[in-house]
Amino acid sequence: MTTPPIVELYGVTKSFGAFTVLNDIDLKIADGEILTLLGPSGCGKTTLMRIVAGFEQSTHGRVLLRGVDVSNQPPERRPVNMVFQRYALFPHLDVFDNVAFGLRLKKKSKSEIKKTVTHMLELVQLGEYANRWITELSGGQAQRVALARALVNEPSVLLLDEPLAALDLKIRHHMLAELKRIHVETGTTFIYVTHDQDEATILSDRIVLMNKGAIEQIGTPEEMYARPQSLFCAKFLGETNILSGSVISAEGDTTYVDIGAGAAKVAMNGVPVGSQVSLAVRPEAIRLDKVREVAGKENFNFVDGVIQDVVFMGSRVVYNIRTPINLIKYQETRPVHGISLERGDEVRASWAADAAVLLTH
Ligand code: ATP
Repeated sequence: MTTPPIVELYGVTKSFGAFTVLNDIDLKIADGEILTLLGPSGCGKTTLMRIVAGFEQSTHGRVLLRGVDVSNQPPERRPVNMVFQRYALFPHLDVFDNVAFGLRLKKKSKSEIKKTVTHMLELVQLGEYANRWITELSGGQAQRVALARALVNEPSVLLLDEPLAALDLKIRHHMLAELKRIHVETGTTFIYVTHDQDEATILSDRIVLMNKGAIEQIGTPEEMYARPQSLFCAKFLGETNILSGSVISAEGDTTYVDIGAGAAKVAMNGVPVGSQVSLAVRPEAIRLDKVREVAGKENFNFVDGVIQDVVFMGSRVVYNIRTPINLIKYQETRPVHGISLERGDEVRASWAADAAVLLTH
């Protein structure tokens, strides 16, 4: 991280009675980044965000904003604003007055309010909607009003708790692009909570993957996808094939793993012989050939099987291959130019030694 952190969490722990929902979280968030808290339902994402906002007190640990310890400060004393999944707009006010609300509380002048609100409505592309009632807006428009209402206070950090969850898929993708644009235009730090790995991947500079109240892995979307450090991460981000086995030998940078269909070669080292491990191989890293066409060819890592089904998904086609060890997924993005494969075909799935990630937990 090159820029100084705007949010620092040290040893943040939260218990509700005997139940610990966050366990010793350390995290630094850079000024101006979009950081996503990603993880399954109940892993503690919202609680962590509420602790940053000050709506919830941690049981142990410290929260620093811009280098200042705010652990004991109430929400209104912290330079953060939160946008919720259910927009929490005032239904009895129109769009303009919803956005102006925070500025009126701060006793800003009429002309300043007019100027700032107009600018914010243009930023979220609702310039024409200033006098509409909240009840007359679509979900996507209402979420833009909620964004404008939060941004008008010029928070150092904007907290977004599953803000797109109530919207349908097309609008969600459009809103993700809008959020990125707004992030660039305002330069505000965004902390975004979601359980949707696609949203996290599309939006984030870095992803914090959480599991049962702890941080599982932190990294850019590319790092998390290409180099998961645990089975949980490999499975949570994108599709992957998991092949279980045990380490039979290691030479230099190569480890040999018995996966029940011969020894698989992995370009990683450091795992002792005898360890139980998993190999994660992405569907797009697999090569598929008809068995009779590869007979006699040298293929170090391979499993033979039969195509069980072919799933057409528009821009890609997914093949599920039944093998003696596992169901293996293979994916092609250009079926038109690939070999023609059908259900029932006998195929060989092979992959390079550096296409698999060796996981020990
Ligand atoms: P989701 O994606 O479903 O919103 P989450 O990852 O945001 O989940 P949290 O809302 O942070 O999870 O909740 C984490 C755990 O803490 C859950 O098991 C939840 O039931 C529990 N929890 C949250 N708030 C309270 C509370 N006020 N009292 C007791 N338990 C709570």
